[in-house]
Amino acid sequence: MPRFAALERLRKKILAGETGTIVKTGYCPLEVGIVALSPYATVMDSLGFQTVYRLFNEHPEVRCERIFPLDRRVGEENGEWLSLESGRKSRDFPVLAASISYEQEVLRLPVILQDARIPLYTEERADNSPIVFCGGPVITANPEPAAAFIDVCGIGDSERLVPEFAELWLAALEQGWNRERLLAELAERPGFYVPALYKIKTVEGGYPVVPAPERNEAPRKVQRVATSLDRTPVHSVIVSNATHFKGMFLVEVARGCRWNCRFCLVCQVNRPYRYVEAKRVIEVLDAVPPEARAIGLVGANLCDHPELEMIIEEVARRGFRLGVSSLRVDTVSEGLLELLKACKVKSLTLAPETASQKLLARIGKRYIPECLFEVVELIAKTGFDSLKLYYMAGLPGEQSQDRQELISQVKKLAGLVGPRMRLKISLNTYVPKPQTALQDESIFYAAQIKQAVRQIRRGLAGLGAKVQLQAGSVAESLAQAALSLGDRTMARAVVRTATGGGRFLDCLTLEGIELEPVLFKRKKPTIEHPWSVLECEPLQD
Ligand code: SF4
Repeated sequence: MPRFAALERLRKKILAGETGTIVKTGYCPLEVGIVALSPYATVMDSLGFQTVYRLFNEHPEVRCERIFPLDRRVGEENGEWLSLESGRKSRDFPVLAASISYEQEVLRLPVILQDARIPLYTEERADNSPIVFCGGPVITANPEPAAAFIDVCGIGDSERLVPEFAELWLAALEQGWNRERLLAELAERPGFYVPALYKIKTVEGGYPVVPAPERNEAPRKVQRVATSLDRTPVHSVIVSNATHFKGMFLVEVARGCRWNCRFCLVCQVNRPYRYVEAKRVIEVLDAVPPEARAIGLVGANLCDHPELEMIIEEVARRGFRLGVSSLRVDTVSEGLLELLKACKVKSLTLAPETASQKLLARIGKRYIPECLFEVVELIAKTGFDSLKLYYMAGLPGEQSQDRQELISQVKKLAGLVGPRMRLKISLNTYVPKPQTALQDESIFYAAQIKQAVRQIRRGLAGLGAKVQLQAGSVAESLAQAALSLGDRTMARAVVRTATGGGRFLDCLTLEGIELEPVLFKRKKPTIEHPWSVLECEPLQD
């Protein structure tokens, strides 16, 4: 079968598996291609991606289509980037947008830019080049490793940024502004960061380079914008069985987190804590398409929602299966567990992070270990099939004794849960995140992390099939850390990686970037960060 026909068949097959696809016909002056930087199954489970798609399409003069690399499968590394809705090529869109949720997605930006024939670096773009507009948690935390490729960064909540961007783009069209004028107008508004209007200044020692305004329109600090949640909550637009959550309709019930753990990025970039009233969540349940098999409630710690029980009771009354994210150990109650069971929840997730009281205090996650034992016993008694526990290795100040405590804790938990329930231990390397209280901490060297994981793995050996340990890749964690904490000098290494030049850490070395000051050395409290151009306190509406 000719390639074009094969791609068309694949595109139509994907669309046939979806409910809620927005296909706008007729003339729209603004055409936006929202690009997928992760595979379909991941991207379509992202409320951030789906919300940007919906918000653009809600504007009567805007059409937004999703651009995926298609090959034998959707999301294929070397696939051809086409819009799912109309099959058009990425280069046919005057605006390319992306919602970046994972640091590694930055490494795919140059790939889509090349495909769309957009010069990679903003300074090389011509007046008629498409505009590249990116937002999402990674950009809101630290846009700098990606800043050389992005014309406009959206800092904060998309509900405020997307309509304003669309209005300004249309104003530029109507009034004949050139690209430079449009970008300058955007830069003057809260929530929009235009990296090309800033020059980078090098500090003593070479890391980090920090942006400083070069033009009058560029504010010294870019304000993050936050919206209130006193309206219809963000929810899935498209439901598909081809995602990881398989036909789950997602509804956001809260944003931010009131616990302020010192290491937590989710909490920092989504401040302040806001929740959606139960009556609004329940209204959305009326709009759930019949194809949806389950409801997923999205929010950092669901137990903090003051009307959570009312929402779950309604989900149960309507006969939906429920999906919930990780719960905070000290907020789980017997009543909540019974309700979750009634909604056919089979598996739960808790994030103890570490078993060491010393380390819990350092990362600002305060709960008493006894509380974890009580909750896990309760979970087992209520009759769930499995429990996932998130732990971290390589926390600041971690020693062998702390890991020994983790091993003892898991062994004790395994003894409490009985023969039926599985314990899934997810062990990830600690990575300091921008804008958090621990942003200046150093990371363990790869050999130290591997040693830490080995110690835990050996300690848990012999517990049988009841306890499964899954440890993340050390190289990927270090690459994620470099992209989290990095600055604009990393751009060439990003391009090198994206164009097949090797793993990101190797490409950084080949481009002459020293990893020691970025990752392995504790920073001075007086350091100016790459993200210092961002005002962390949000501007709320
Ligand atoms: S409870 Fe969880 S989501 Fe909330 S701040 Fe702590 S780690 Fe982050």
